[in-house]
Amino acid sequence: GGCVVAVDGPSGSGKSTVSRRLAIALGARYLDTGAMYRAVTWAVLRSGVDLADPSAVAKVAGETELGIGTDPEGYGVTADGVPVEVEIRGSEVTGAVSAVAAVPAVRSLLVTRQRDLAAAAGRIVIEGRDIGAVVAPNADLKVFLTASAAARAARRSAENATDVGHTATDLARRDRLDSTRKADPMVPALDAVVLDTTELGIDEVVVRLREMLAE
Ligand code: C5P
Repeated sequence: GGCVVAVDGPSGSGKSTVSRRLAIALGARYLDTGAMYRAVTWAVLRSGVDLADPSAVAKVAGETELGIGTDPEGYGVTADGVPVEVEIRGSEVTGAVSAVAAVPAVRSLLVTRQRDLAAAAGRIVIEGRDIGAVVAPNADLKVFLTASAAARAARRSAENATDVGHTATDLARRDRLDSTRKADPMVPALDAVVLDTTELGIDEVVVRLREMLAE
């Protein structure tokens, strides 16, 4: 039957790697909701509308044909048929995504899509910021991964081959924007298991989550 695992947390908490590995171990689908917000942001930037104009941003979001796969071994992301996997990880999109994700109409559009994808998948690991609290409040397991700011910056800069000081500043800015927005601020669901991954390896985290699911 259906089994939904919600994995939330800030970037650098290990949530992407952990979520993909867990999905593979469970033979489940995987959904990267951050990639959806990033793809919409790519379309908004391409359209040239003012990021500070929520109704213009919402209009572009509504008109963009978003494609996202759910294979944990490799999933495609497209916007209006254009593959955007590389572009959505770039600094332009990363710098603008918090503003786009703060628009309530964008969130409701993507949350609906995420629920539809989850229902179609049956067994799925969904990662994001608001999965346990908003997207899948009835998830079988809700985890909120955290890590020290230093550990998160170190992981992100290793992934992206960027300067660690710069990465730390960027992460702090994005955390602040994400956690102070009015629409669904990033907070753990009340019933989420909070796991600090600062001192844990990926394998260890995956093993712990599998144990929690088996209980
Ligand atoms: O996880 P990732 O770093 O790719 O997320 C990019 C951005 O998308 C976050 O900084 C946040 O602004 C937004 N996001 C969100 N809700 C989610 C997933 C991502 O608001 N469920």
